[in-house]
Amino acid sequence: MSGEVQYKVVVGLEIHVQLCTKSKMFCSCAVEFGRSPNSRVCPVCLGMPGVLPVMNRQAVEYAVLVAMALNCEIAEHTKWDRKSYYYPDLPKNYQISQYDLPLSSNGYIEIPLEQGRTKRIGIIRAHLEEDAGKNLHPSGNFSQVDLNRTGTPLLEIVTQPDMSSPAEVRALAVELQRIVRYLGVSEADMQKGHMRFEPNINLVINKDGKEYKTPIVEVKNLNSFRALERSVEYEIQRQLDEFLQTGITIETGGKSTRGWDDEREVTVLQREKEEAHDYRYFPDPDLVPVEFTGQWLDDIRSRLCEPPIKRQVRYVNEYKLSNYDAGVLTAERSTADFFEEVVAQDGDPKRACNIITQDLLKLANEKGCSVVDLEITVSHIAELCKMLVTGVVSATAATTITNIMLASPDKRPQDIAHEHSLIQKSDAGELETIVDQVLAENPKAVDDVKSGGKKTKKALGFLLGQVMQKTKGQANPKVVSQILAKKLG
Ligand code: ZN
Ligand code: MN
Repeated sequence: MSGEVQYKVVVGLEIHVQLCTKSKMFCSCAVEFGRSPNSRVCPVCLGMPGVLPVMNRQAVEYAVLVAMALNCEIAEHTKWDRKSYYYPDLPKNYQISQYDLPLSSNGYIEIPLEQGRTKRIGIIRAHLEEDAGKNLHPSGNFSQVDLNRTGTPLLEIVTQPDMSSPAEVRALAVELQRIVRYLGVSEADMQKGHMRFEPNINLVINKDGKEYKTPIVEVKNLNSFRALERSVEYEIQRQLDEFLQTGITIETGGKSTRGWDDEREVTVLQREKEEAHDYRYFPDPDLVPVEFTGQWLDDIRSRLCEPPIKRQVRYVNEYKLSNYDAGVLTAERSTADFFEEVVAQDGDPKRACNIITQDLLKLANEKGCSVVDLEITVSHIAELCKMLVTGVVSATAATTITNIMLASPDKRPQDIAHEHSLIQKSDAGELETIVDQVLAENPKAVDDVKSGGKKTKKALGFLLGQVMQKTKGQANPKVVSQILAKKLG
């Protein structure tokens, strides 16, 4: 059809994840955030002449663990290369990285999409390298350099260009954060720059029956999920507009690098992209190659856990939770563990899920901690679940009880319910008397119910509300509804 334009979005992602080792990648300086500038440095990470790097075994093992979780093939033999470039925050004038023999390659990650669907995104490679320092730009005509971060272990992960929407790009980033946190290899704290994203974006456009590709744009150094998603959204529209106006294609345009302006929410051209040969990669003569033995790899593999996305799907199938609730429960490993312990103590899964996702997570967010840090015990939550199932307390009362438990974690929910008169009235005889009173006081509503018309439902709700009011909210609404139905036919 003439004039019709359709397009497909193609996005690949490069992600840098800071590993939470105690010391740096090639020296014994501490990896610590927020310390006074240049207080965590030594001759090695300062790039002094004549010093030699020593590999951090923990960093190598953490990297392999993530690579295994990403279903990658682990290389038997991997080496270190120097990636040369001059920056004030990289005093050696080269970054130790991995070029042609990365420690892992050829894997995939399963990402959750809406309504419980998942999509598999290919992983090209994952390799280890060291981070650079930070350039600071205080007011005035000068800049400063803080080298505390120099030499921090970074895992670089490169995906296939398998993502086809901003939402998929975000889903991958969030899933990767969940994975590295589950494995305990990174805090993955965005605010501290523990995860940085660089999407490669272009479009495949079909115009008048012909196919065109727009030039690939790499957006550098995004450090929030929002910036990542918004920058991809922006680039899609910008590339489409540019193509329609100028007809530029991947053949005529070539790759370029753009930055993200967080305030204006636009990408800004930085430079035409350099090629790998500009970096003059060559093997680092100061470091020995790494050879993985089967025993070593088995040992690392034994530290893998059930992948969070598998856990999420299992909660939907096994406990009949919604995909959304299962996602909330499995966002943090300790919360998911807590949930499973409650279920193991005969806590009803649906009730346990409600208490954790609605009450405990709210309290935890207010305190800025995890659910397990609230110090409310598994057995008390399991007991509260049973009280809900048997109708001893209402859901509203359960919320009150969890709030009281926060202040007095030693008190049993049973005792709290008695002390605060939160036990639900389920005694049919007692409730019947109250229902009779309410019916006598509200003849109009009774007529409305009996008329069987449109007003029935509303009138029934009104009568139920009256009973709840008379009992100060302690009547079991289920029992009251049954009595009402019996009396009013
Ligand atoms: Zn150092
Ligand atoms: Mn890198």
